[in-house]
Amino acid sequence: MARKFFVGGNFKMNGTIESVKAIAKNLSEAQLDPNVDVVIAPPTLYLLLVREHLKPGLEVAAQNVFDKPNGAFTGEISVLQLKDSGINWTILGHSERRTILGESDEVVASKTKFATEGGVGVIWCCGESLEEREAGQTIAVIEKQLAAVAAKIGDWSKVVIAYEPIWAIGTGKVATVQQAQEVHEAIRKWLKANVNDKVAEETRILYGGSVNGKNCKELAKEKDIDGFLVGGASLKPEFVDIINSNL
Ligand code: PEP
Repeated sequence: MARKFFVGGNFKMNGTIESVKAIAKNLSEAQLDPNVDVVIAPPTLYLLLVREHLKPGLEVAAQNVFDKPNGAFTGEISVLQLKDSGINWTILGHSERRTILGESDEVVASKTKFATEGGVGVIWCCGESLEEREAGQTIAVIEKQLAAVAAKIGDWSKVVIAYEPIWAIGTGKVATVQQAQEVHEAIRKWLKANVNDKVAEETRILYGGSVNGKNCKELAKEKDIDGFLVGGASLKPEFVDIINSNL
């Protein structure tokens, strides 16, 4: 089965009412490859605004969601609230949340379970630090992250995996095509051995880390790279070139 190319844009804590509206409008008017799923993740405060200004067919994601249905959880948002607002996706396990906000593999897995069971798609992020790569631990780190999520979820159809080496995020230091493909292949192998053949074959694996309008085409040619999760460049006009990597 051919996996549909997927490009996510993570605005992080960037943007204003005017700038996110302009991005939504520009994307809605751009000529985009119809064979690509496009999902953009503005800050929580702008989710509804972006949904309103984005044409149908282009999706919006939260950057995080909580793993409780509702209640006394100040500052958090729920899966139900996302669904209620027409937000069908969330990013989970981004390295900035893991390292700065202290989210463990288990917390990320629990949130992934909650979101997928509530009908919200998850862009589930994993990746190693520079020290881990240099110590030859890249695959072991990712397998540990995968094992935590696989222990909690049964339905992988709503999960897109984003491999994001921490040393490549926001640094301008993109992984080589070989480094990315090697890890993507290892993730697929792990899914085959530990989940099943169908999940290994059908789950999309995105690369994230300093992707831009120039390096995207080479990366997109690799057989196990099914799209991108883009930070900085998702705020710029070149995001359209990344979406259209295969044209
Ligand atoms: C990200 O934050 O997910 C990311 C990949 O950032 P950047 O593209 O800026 O490296």
